[in-house]
Amino acid sequence: MNQRVLSERARRVIPGGVNSGQRSVPGLTDLVIAHAEGARIRDADGREYVDYHAAFGPPLLGHNDPDVAEAVAAAGRSLDLAGVGVTQGEIELAETLAELVPGIEKSLLTSTGSEATFHALRVARAATGRRLVVKFQGCYHGWHDSVSLNVISAPDRVGARDPISTGILPEVLEATLVLPFNSAEAVRRAFAEHGADIAAAIVEPVPHNVGCLLPEPEFLRTLREECTKAGSVLVFDEVITGFRHALGGWQQISGVTPDLTTLGKAIANGYPVGALGGRADLMDLFSSRPGGPAFFAGTYNGHPAVVAAALATVRKLRAEPVHEHVFALGARIREGLTAIFDGLGVPAVVAGYGSVFVAYFMTGPARTYTDLLRNDAEMFIGYRRRLLGHGVFELPLNLKRSHVSYAHTGADVDHLLEAAEQAARAQLAQ
Ligand code: PMP
Repeated sequence: MNQRVLSERARRVIPGGVNSGQRSVPGLTDLVIAHAEGARIRDADGREYVDYHAAFGPPLLGHNDPDVAEAVAAAGRSLDLAGVGVTQGEIELAETLAELVPGIEKSLLTSTGSEATFHALRVARAATGRRLVVKFQGCYHGWHDSVSLNVISAPDRVGARDPISTGILPEVLEATLVLPFNSAEAVRRAFAEHGADIAAAIVEPVPHNVGCLLPEPEFLRTLREECTKAGSVLVFDEVITGFRHALGGWQQISGVTPDLTTLGKAIANGYPVGALGGRADLMDLFSSRPGGPAFFAGTYNGHPAVVAAALATVRKLRAEPVHEHVFALGARIREGLTAIFDGLGVPAVVAGYGSVFVAYFMTGPARTYTDLLRNDAEMFIGYRRRLLGHGVFELPLNLKRSHVSYAHTGADVDHLLEAAEQAARAQLAQ
């Protein structure tokens, strides 16, 4: 059945025709995905793309990595779900996270990143008895109410509370303070004014939900110091950065250790996972009596297939030069794109880190969300729509980042750069 027919069926029975907020893309509303393997995805009409969207980030090894797929299949043959006690795989995964991630002594598994950030804030409030949460403009931490505000805000909404959904109690939104990213000064001011009421500060150490803003060392250090001084819990949301940039996450790279860490996406290479880890004294609030004093539960937490996927992913990341490969390709892409846009006289900031890249169409700097308001969204989206015509998939939505995986090759990068030049030229000529 072709895509048009299938997507019409979808829209009749699935609101908006898709199962997650940003899967419906203007200009691509009939997209039905049929297959994914390595660096490629294929739609139901048989059209193939080199995939740099990468499902918003999980398949660091590439889609359907054979070692991960085999581990999942083997787990499925042995145990689907018992829902009582623990499994050896869960123990091994928690031991591995404690070994790899500087801020993690103990950890718990969830099925999604949102559940991990939800429980991070719950336990921070439980530990401190305080109400307020600090988040930063441009960061995304999932769909739950306390953090459902100020991600990609329109210019007139920056600086105000800007919920991403209706249906949230105003008092929940009011308990979240939104600060500009990379402003140590704003952090100091907020803690000076509200420190005694701040339960937690949560931050994407690299805000990849608006592409890539690199944190200035002083910013993360100040956040750490102010949280320590005020007795507030510092949460690094490493759902994207964890494993992708380093096995120990951005905290390993920056040397700034949070009290709690959330992980997801790349740690299981595409299987539904989240993890919350951190200081033992905080994490133990989830367990000093069964189910308490802070409650934590989930029917599918630590699902054997997902745990097997995570363990297989870690094994491969440790045994093979995955990071070297994706970092080298990422650097080539960023350098190549910079040269192309410079050559064409297109104002562009090609940002990124390691395997992540994004071309903003603007002049620099790109330090904070308000800088990104200068990005030419029409050019950003138009350029990516043209890339689709060359068989290159970068999500044609404003400010979205792209990723390379272990399955991408140098030839894929050559192809991307050729396509980029043609797409940019065509976009300029229109
Ligand atoms: N935190 C960050 C940094 C994320 O990027 C995301 C997902 N994009 C989440 C949390 C939420 O994860 P999930 O979609 O698995 O609930």
